Amino acid sequence: MSDRPGPGMAPQGLLAIFAHPDDESFGMAGTLALAAEAGLPVNVVCATDGDLGGEGGTVAERVMDPEIRRGELRDACRAMGIGEPVFLGYGDSGMEGWGPPPGSLVLADPDEVVGRIVAVLRELRPAIVVTFDPNGIYGHPDHRAISRLATEGYRRAAVDPDGPRALYHQVVAQTQLWALGNMFAALESADEGERPAPTDDDRAQQQAFAAFAIPDDAIDVAVDVRSVIDRKLAAMRAHATQIRMPDGGIPPAMVESMEAALGRECFVRVDPQRVPGQRRTSLWEQPGGSR
Ligand SMILES: [Zn+2]
Repeated sequence: MSDRPGPGMAPQGLLAIFAHPDDESFGMAGTLALAAEAGLPVNVVCATDGDLGGEGGTVAERVMDPEIRRGELRDACRAMGIGEPVFLGYGDSGMEGWGPPPGSLVLADPDEVVGRIVAVLRELRPAIVVTFDPNGIYGHPDHRAISRLATEGYRRAAVDPDGPRALYHQVVAQTQLWALGNMFAALESADEGERPAPTDDDRAQQQAFAAFAIPDDAIDVAVDVRSVIDRKLAAMRAHATQIRMPDGGIPPAMVESMEAALGRECFVRVDPQRVPGQRRTSLWEQPGGSR
């Protein structure tokens, strides 16, 4: 990873701002790894500790040691070859209807959170900022919140003369849904361990995931990440409490479904305003070759 730009230098690199440890890896690990490979400074801001990420049907069963998930994110960042993560330290708000615990992101003063995001933007000085789209992929309250808060933080920092230059929202394309469904089915059938039955929240999440996917013609950047798929899978595997991935290599029978599901990462450009029909393949390489 290259160094962050000093005072007076143009903003450089990429900052991804998400809600939970693992959001970055499932959504855009390949793009982050490719940016690092291109020599850009790359970091992730993680707003919550994901401390309701345990398994179980009740909130109490889901509480977990925040340090476990922080450690998983640190390992994932190493796997992607990017810099250390920045933690904002808010609590996980849990799914819709759970009742957010004290200290959780959705109960925090929005001005305070935006102020902290602006401070990180002014310290790390990225050129490109990425967060969730307003629906947060599947509607998790923390995903929606960080989309709003990071977008507002970007807008405040972007008026600085040396502020960030572009904001993207990470999305799932409707044309990825089928491949993602196949991959999860393949992962489940490869897993010999005990797997808890899906809860009502799991089912609601799956429906929202399909409902909030984006039509292809609304996507501005589709990044082909197949060349770094191993790094993406290693980053996903680092979140061991969240997904069970096969040990070692991917079984040959699953390579195709994994590549179809995970080999493309999609983004909508928010600022500068999108120009419909101009599909690009990189967040940082401009058609003329400059960054
Ligand atoms: Zn999340």
